[in-house]
Amino acid sequence: MAAARKLNTFRLPPLPTIREIIKLFRLQAQKQLSQNFLLDLRLTDKIVRKAGNLTGAYVYEVGPGPGGITRSILSANIAELLVVEKDTRFLPGLQMLSDAAPGKLRIVHGDVLTYRVDRAFPENLKRAWEDDPPNFHIIGNLPFSVSTPLIIKWLRAVSRQEGPFVYGRTQMTLTFQKEVAERLTASTGSKQRSRLSIMAQYLCSVQHVLTIPGQAFIPKPEVDVGLVHFVPLVRPTIQQPFDLVEKVVQHVFHFRRKYCYRGLGMLFPEDRRLESTGRLLQLADVEPTLRPCQLSLAHFRSLCDVYRGMCDGDPQLFAYNFREELKQNKSRSREAREAQEL
Ligand code: SAM
Repeated sequence: MAAARKLNTFRLPPLPTIREIIKLFRLQAQKQLSQNFLLDLRLTDKIVRKAGNLTGAYVYEVGPGPGGITRSILSANIAELLVVEKDTRFLPGLQMLSDAAPGKLRIVHGDVLTYRVDRAFPENLKRAWEDDPPNFHIIGNLPFSVSTPLIIKWLRAVSRQEGPFVYGRTQMTLTFQKEVAERLTASTGSKQRSRLSIMAQYLCSVQHVLTIPGQAFIPKPEVDVGLVHFVPLVRPTIQQPFDLVEKVVQHVFHFRRKYCYRGLGMLFPEDRRLESTGRLLQLADVEPTLRPCQLSLAHFRSLCDVYRGMCDGDPQLFAYNFREELKQNKSRSREAREAQEL
């Protein structure tokens, strides 16, 4: 009870503004690192509110930079915040925040793509996968070049319940280029429907919760930004290994404007492409002339289930790569041409 009261009353003491911190520590954004900062604390408060109720929560912030979102998280009655920042220039400013919030902020100089967050928080935070999500949240405004590979890595981790998901169905609230946010959340039939839509939505409930105009950042990026909230599903819509789902989805979207049978066909060696594609579509009960963006998650589930059965029956099939076959065919015909010329 006393601890709850303590959490509810925490306030950061008066601090220099983020703009002053940037001046004080000479934190000019490095364009080549796509650093774009948020200086308006009303906006960072809004971003943090979109993560949900953080009272008593453990939070992992990726890429805190000069600390705008960090301050808003610290003001949200959390239990503890861990930040991982790659650029050493930001560490003194973050240390100032840590001094202002004793015992609440842990700073790690590291790379979010390799940092082992599964060991960073107390064991008693863990919840069973079927339970409500743990009181552990991930929040971040990263460069776009990092946020997309990171979300793919973390979706794979959701499927294996590892990394940040050893604690249970950890919620994530992350920024992306607005177009990427639209792809992540695109529904069946929408123009933005893509590989990312399926990979995210078969594992998580995904919501585009806020659009942040480019002008809100210093320096202003070329594009607007979308904030996306992810909650892992108790039961993924597709019950197959991540790599298998990724392979099927990639192939479907390989010819995104053509009928889906074109891309799916490339899952099979040329000499039996027609027959195997026909069997896959028939057993999965999918109309061959649907376009990739018209396929629902249920369609992808049946395609993955049938493809899995075909791979179980033919152990070479999963390793088949149509690009390799194309390359080999080309080099064979070049050799044949050269032999004729001799
Ligand atoms: N979160 C701050 C804000 O909203 O103002 C900074 C945003 S800036 C777009 C991205 C931050 O992520 C920078 O501070 C950058 O140094 C950091 N960053 C970039 N790549 C990183 C990585 N791989 N690991 C950790 N931090 C990274």
